[in-house]
Amino acid sequence: MSQFDVDLFCIGAGSGGTRAARIAAGYGAKVAIAEEFRIGGTCVIRGCVPKKLYVYASRFADDFADAAGYGWSIPKPEFNWAKLKSNKEAEITRLSGIYRANLAKAGVVIHEERAVVTGAHSVQLASGKQITAKTILIATGGAPARMQGLTGVEHALTSDQIFDMTQFPARLAIVGAGYIAVEFASLFVRLGAKVSLMLRGDNILRGFDESMREGLRQELQHAGVDLKFGIVPTHVSKTDAGLKLALSDGSTLDVDQLLVATGRKPHTHGLGLESAGVTLDSDGAVKVDGYSRTNVPSIYAVGDVTNRINLTPVAIREGHAFADTLFGGKDVRVDHTNVASAVFTTPEIGTVGLTEAQAREKFPLLNIFESNFRPMKSTLSGNVERTLMKIIVDAATDKVVGVHIMGHEAGEMAQLLGIAVKMGATKADFDATMAVHPTAAEELVTMRSVSRQVIR
Ligand code: NAP
Repeated sequence: MSQFDVDLFCIGAGSGGTRAARIAAGYGAKVAIAEEFRIGGTCVIRGCVPKKLYVYASRFADDFADAAGYGWSIPKPEFNWAKLKSNKEAEITRLSGIYRANLAKAGVVIHEERAVVTGAHSVQLASGKQITAKTILIATGGAPARMQGLTGVEHALTSDQIFDMTQFPARLAIVGAGYIAVEFASLFVRLGAKVSLMLRGDNILRGFDESMREGLRQELQHAGVDLKFGIVPTHVSKTDAGLKLALSDGSTLDVDQLLVATGRKPHTHGLGLESAGVTLDSDGAVKVDGYSRTNVPSIYAVGDVTNRINLTPVAIREGHAFADTLFGGKDVRVDHTNVASAVFTTPEIGTVGLTEAQAREKFPLLNIFESNFRPMKSTLSGNVERTLMKIIVDAATDKVVGVHIMGHEAGEMAQLLGIAVKMGATKADFDATMAVHPTAAEELVTMRSVSRQVIR
C-alpha cells in the first residue's frame, strides 16, 4: 500500500500532460490530472488546431482567385465569420472530448479545476481537496506575455481571444513579428480584413533563415498586409468605432481590434512552485534536466512551461519520455536537435536544422543550394506567389545540416525532410533520390549546382 494517494499527479491536461498521464497509467501507475480550463490545452483549444482550421478557411480566398485561370467562373464568394467560429468550436469540442475519453479509458482520474503545488509530494485543488502524489508533473504550458510599455493594453486581444471575436475585424492591427503575428496577419488578410502588422525590428521572424524571412516578408506584402517596420503601438484607447492606437512614430491608427502577439511566457505564476523549492529561471520557466526532472526529485516538468522548444510535438515527446523513464523502466532522454517545424502562413515556411547564420558559426565551409521559382499552379492562375528552397551543406562531410522551404505545403515537406536530416543524410543521398514529378518537392533532390559557398 503506497503512502501516497496517487503515483503521479499531472497539473495541466494539454499536449504534454495528457500524453504523460496516459502512458504512465498504461504502465500501471495510479494517475490523476487537473485542468483549470479545457482538456486538450493550448494546442487543441486556442492554438495549433483552431489556427490551422482558420488557415484552411483563409486559403479559399486564393483558390477562388486562382480558379479563373483554370476556366472557372464563380459568383463573388462571401465569408461568414460566425459560421467558421461555430464550426471550429464544434471541432475543438469533439477533440477535447476525445482527449477526455482517452484519459478516462487509460484509468486517469480527471479533476476539472485548478491545482497548485503545496509541497514536494502534495497538491491542492481549487475545491480545497489535498492530494498526495509520489511524483508531480508540471505541464501547465505558457500564456501570452503582457506587452511592456503599451498603455490601454486591456482593450487589446491576445491569441487566446482572437478566435472567438464577436465581430469579424474589418481593420485588424497586430503587434509582434513571430509565429503568431505572421500567421494571423496572413490568415486575416485573406479572410478580408485590412491588416497592419507593427514590428519593432526591421523584419519578421527573427531566428529563422534570412532567405525565408525576406521571402515571406514579400509574400505578406503582396497579400496586402501593411508592414510597419520599427513601429509599435504605445497607447490604445476605445472609440465609438473601435480602437485608436497611438504609435511610436507619433501617428495614430484607427482599427477594430489589436492583437498583441509579442511572445508567450511559461505559465508558472501562482502555482506554488517556489514554496515547494522548485527552481525557476529568470523568465519563470521551470528548470529541468535531460529527463525533465526539476531540482526537487519528486517534481518534473514538460512542455512550454520549461521553455525549451515550445512546440506541441516536443511537449508530447517530453511527456512520453518522462512516463517511459519513470513508470516504464526505460531510460529515455529527448533529443532536441533537428526538430522540424512550420509557420502556417500562406505560403508556409517549413524548416529543419540550422539556419545559414547558425551553420556559418559551426562549419568552416558551407555549400548552399538555392532555388526560387514560380509554383506550377501559379502559371495558369497568374498568382505571384514564389517558392523558395534552400539546402545548407557542410562542405567537409557533404552532410545536409539545414533545409528551409517557403511554399505550398512546406510544413508537410519539412516533416519528411526531418527524417532525412535526423538520419544524417548527405547531399549525395538527396541527389541519389529519384524525383517525384511534377511536384515542388522534387526540386529538393534535383538541385545540382552550388549557388554559393560560404567561408567562415
Ligand atoms: P515569438 O515567436 O517568441 O515572437 C515574439 C515576437 O514579439 C517577436 O517578433 C518579437 O520581436 C516581438 N516582441 C517581443 N516583445 C516586444 C515588444 N515589447 N514590442 C514589440 N514587439 C515585441 O512569439 P509568438 O509569435 O507569440 O509565439 C509564441 C510561441 O508559440 C512560439 O515560441 C512558438 O514556439 C509557438 N507557436 C508555434 C507555432 C507553429 O509552430 N507554427 C505557431 C504559433 C505559436 P523581436 O523579433 O524584435 O524580438
